[in-house]
Order: sequence, then structure tokens, then C-alpha cells
Amino acid sequence: MQRPGPRDPHEVFNQPPPLSDYDPFGSDAALAEALQREGGGHGMDRVRAFARRVGSAEVLALGELANRHGPILHTRDRFGRRIDEIEFHPAWHELMRLGIEAGLHSLPWSDPRPGSHVLRAALVMLRHQVEEGVSCPLTMTFAAIPTLRLAPSLAADWEPRLLSNRYDPRTAPAAEKSGAIVGMAMTERQGGTDVRANTTRAAPGGPDGAWRLDGHKWFCSAPQSDAFLVLAQAGGGLTCFILPRVLPDGSRNAIHVQRLKDKVGNRSNASSEVEFHGALAWPVGPEGRGVASIMEMVRHTRLDCALGSAATLRRAVAEATHHAAHRDVSGAKLAAQPLMQNVLADLCLESEAATALAMRLARAFDGAAAGDLFERSFARVATAVAKYWITKRAVAAVAEALECTGGNGFVEESPLARLYRDVPVNAIWEGSGNVQCLDVLRALAREPEAAPALLTEIRAGASGEPRLAALADELAAAMSAAIPAEGSARVLVERIAVGLQASLLARHAPAAVADAFCASRLAGRGGLFGTLPPGCDLGAIVERATPRPAA
Ligand SMILES: Cc1cc2nc3c(=O)[nH]c(=O)nc-3n(C[C@H](O)[C@H](O)[C@H](O)COP(=O)(O)OP(=O)(O)OC[C@H]3O[C@@H](n4cnc5c(N)ncnc54)[C@H](O)[C@@H]3O)c2cc1C
Repeated sequence: MQRPGPRDPHEVFNQPPPLSDYDPFGSDAALAEALQREGGGHGMDRVRAFARRVGSAEVLALGELANRHGPILHTRDRFGRRIDEIEFHPAWHELMRLGIEAGLHSLPWSDPRPGSHVLRAALVMLRHQVEEGVSCPLTMTFAAIPTLRLAPSLAADWEPRLLSNRYDPRTAPAAEKSGAIVGMAMTERQGGTDVRANTTRAAPGGPDGAWRLDGHKWFCSAPQSDAFLVLAQAGGGLTCFILPRVLPDGSRNAIHVQRLKDKVGNRSNASSEVEFHGALAWPVGPEGRGVASIMEMVRHTRLDCALGSAATLRRAVAEATHHAAHRDVSGAKLAAQPLMQNVLADLCLESEAATALAMRLARAFDGAAAGDLFERSFARVATAVAKYWITKRAVAAVAEALECTGGNGFVEESPLARLYRDVPVNAIWEGSGNVQCLDVLRALAREPEAAPALLTEIRAGASGEPRLAALADELAAAMSAAIPAEGSARVLVERIAVGLQASLLARHAPAAVADAFCASRLAGRGGLFGTLPPGCDLGAIVERATPRPAA
């Protein structure tokens, strides 16, 4: 580049334009291809239109505002009466409305045609890139439906409002509202993973078949929800209940919000500590089968953790590649500097692989819902694999993407700062990393079809890729011998995840992407980003992922 002549020292130059008013779907070939491939092509126009909206400067600004002006808890009114109300910035409500009107809380249940999980997955990935916090209540409402359906009469009462595409944030009995949302409260002070240690008690004898709950929950996100699925100890053991926030007569249920958590990230979303003082709740599923009942919900929230982290990773890669395409350092664009190109290309690969795996998993949910036994077995084990791997890799990748934008990325005005604070949470909630790995071991031990499903899927991409065939053989041996010791679970799950991703990319991605992924991840490289071996077509990988201005 020709060095500019003397410039006005107050002129702003060599700073990239903000990445807004762009097309996050048209710029994301990996997502567009996956939507079509995995069975959501019928929603292509819908996704395109939604992407134009969420890529607009107006909607991106809502994400910033909702985070800058986080929720405020009001436990009492000015007369001292308990109200337990959460005050949100209007931007939060706008984002909730956007998500609910798009059906992100309901789509596979309200329009259960083939491919509806995949269509929803693409919409979730686009919306999540605007702002991570509102994904929590949208996901919980979506995921609550399979658990709620264990109690058909309760489901019949609640579903019309939970599946409604109207956002109605008023505090009122659910029956009087045009739409409702649901939260989940399992975690107590003494144990989140070990919910069997829950001490919250449930006693029968309330009005209309209700039970009375006494106890606490240490984490209860979206406490403004209209109802919560809650675990409590009944006489027959840990049981799942639905606990409305407002009772049918308009009075407030005895659930007290003690305080809001001051969190590292996920700041727009209210996460609270609550106490139940004889709160009325109705059993969902059999008494003593609370964990099994709520696991129906958790399976679906784990899918969304994988989708959400793939989305955050994609937004970070979009920001990093956009920055590098516009920023000159030492006379050349950053994107053209060989070492930066290696870092960017490596991040692009991670993003492509995360998107491909998360969208494939969404198809498994569609297949399982349609009664496909292979897809059911695959979904059972691959959910834990994807939840573990994608949420973990996204944390490292977002940190690296932030560094690509230099000091600008470390300043709160940058979207990367927020992504960096937000990204760890998907690895923690809904079962943290180790819990996912132990769940994979459990699935392999208990479900005879789990290992064959994983191996079939990995081998599907191995015909032209001997390194993947070798990995499949290694995994077959590891999974057919005694189930690996717990202490080695992360090694096994990492290898399975990489095998699944390599298989998808080998079958479906451009050669430059698939070759570089296999040459690095299957050959033991890829600890830190920017370590792709010589011979990879770095320019092609980065070019494919760099966002373009909206048409
Ligand atoms: C922002 C936020 C919002 C949340 N919202 C909700 C909510 O709405 N509802 C709700 O119910 N919960 C919620 N949670 C709680 C969350 O689900 C728990 O924090 C999580 O399940 C972990 O439980 P814990 O914090 O008690 O950690 P612990 O159970 O003490 O686990 C600590 C660590 O030990 C590991 N570990 C556990 N068991 C084993 C083992 N056998 N071997 C090896 N390692 C193990 C875990 O992987 C974890 O890394 C939220 C959490 C956060 C951060």
C-alpha cells in the first residue's frame, strides 16, 4: 500500500466501519447450506427475511441497550407489599417480542412439519448473534413443552399461551394473557449437578389438586416468567411441578425473589435466587420421577446451548474477519498478512464445524420426533457431545477473535467484549462440561445403539479421508472395550466430537475447509488457533466466512 502523505492528525482513518446493516445469513454460507441440507429448506425465505431484520443497525442496537441497562429487581412496592417485579429496559422487551413473533419459543410444537427443528435452529442462531440473554427465556419456554406434555391436562391449559406468537409481559393470571413464558428452577445452594440433594419440600393438600412447596432455588433465571418447572421432594421422592407466578384468582403465588445475581455475562437476562413459602404447584409426571421428567426439558435446552455457542462463535468470526478485511497494519490489510490469515482461517474452520454439528443435531431432533430410531439414538448421545465440545471451543475461539481486533475488542463498546463475557455460560448451565462427558459414558454404557450411531455418522465421511477412517477405527475400539474410565472421558468425547465435525465437513463443505479441518484437527493440531499446517488454502477459507454488506 502506498503510504499516505501528511494527514490531519485529528482525522479518523484506518478504522473499520461498524458491522451493522449487514446480512448475517447471506454472509454465512455454512449456515445457509446446513439449513437446506438438514431439511429446513422450506423456511429459506422466512430465514432470509428474519436475517435482514436481525442484521439491521436498529436491532443490533437493541442488544447493546438491553445489556447496558440490565434488569432491576423490585421486591416490594412503596407501601412495603411484596411485588417481586423485574424491571427491564424497553430494548429487552423488543428483543423478546422479536423472538416470540418469530416462533423461536414454539416452532416445532406449533408447526410440527418435518424440518421444523432445523428451521428453528437457523432462526435461533441468527437471533442469538444479536444478544445472548433473551435466548434463556425463549429456550426454556420451547424446551418446557415436552415435559409439560407428561401432564396432558396441564399441557392443555398452558399450551395455547405458551405456543402463542404474542409477547405479553404483564403480571396477570396466565388465562388472561395472550402469551406466556416458562422458566426452570432446579439448582439449590448445596448442589446444581446433584439435584437429588434438593431440599425443597412438596406437600399435597392445596386447592384444586395443588401441592405446597417450601424451600429455595439458588439459580432461577427469568423470574418474570409466568410459570416455572421446579423440582421438589415429595413423599415418593424428587418430583417435577409446574408453579405459576400468579394464581388463577390474580393473587401472587408465594415465590419470593430474594436478589438478582451479579453475573460475569448474560447480563440482560435476570437470574435470581428465590424462596418458596407454601407456593402452590401442580405435579408434572409421576411422583418420584422428577429427574426423568425434567430431563425431557433439559435435552432441548442442551440443543440450544450448542446452537447458541455456535452462533456466538459465528458472530465473533464475522467481527474478526470484517475487522481484518478493513484494517491496515504495516502497509497491508491484516487479512492478507500470512500469520493473521492462519489465525482467521483456523477460527473460520471452528465456526463452520460448530455450525455443521449443531445443525446436524437439530435434524436428529426432527428425526427422533418422526420416530426414526437411528436419529433418536444419535440425538441421545450426540446432544451431550455437541453441548460439551461446541460450548467449550467457543470460549477459546471468542477470546482469539477478540484479540484479532486488537485493543478495540477489549473495550466495552465492542461487540466482542460482550461476546467474551457471555460465551462461558453455555458451558456451565444445563450440565457443565464434565457432566456432559459423564453423560456420554452413561449413554454408551446403557444404550446399545449409541456407539453404532456415532460410528455410522463418522464413517459416512471417511471414504475419501483416511485420517477420519483411522479415527473411526480408534473410536470403535475405545467404545467396544470396557467403557473408558471417568478420568479419560474428556479425551474420548473430544475425539468423537472432532470425528463428527470432520465427517460433516468432509461430506458437505468446500474442499479447502474440509482439508484444512482434517489436516489440523485429525492430525493432533488445533490446540491454539493459528496453527494450520502449510498447504491449506487460507484465503479461500477466510473469504467464504467474511461478512458482506446487505444487498
Ligand atoms: C447465569 C446462570 C443462570 C442459571 N440459571 C438457572 C436456572 O434458571 N435454573 C436452574 O435450575 N439452574 C440455573 N443455573 C445453575 C446451573 O445450571 C448450575 O450452576 C450448573 O448446573 C452447575 O451446578 P453448580 O453450580 O451447583 O455446580 P456443581 O454441581 O457444584 O459443579 C461444579 C463443577 O463440578 C463438575 N462436576 C459435577 N459433578 C462431577 C463429577 N461427578 N465428576 C467430575 N466433575 C463433576 C461440574 O461439571 C462443574 O464444573 C444457572 C447458572 C448460571 C451461571
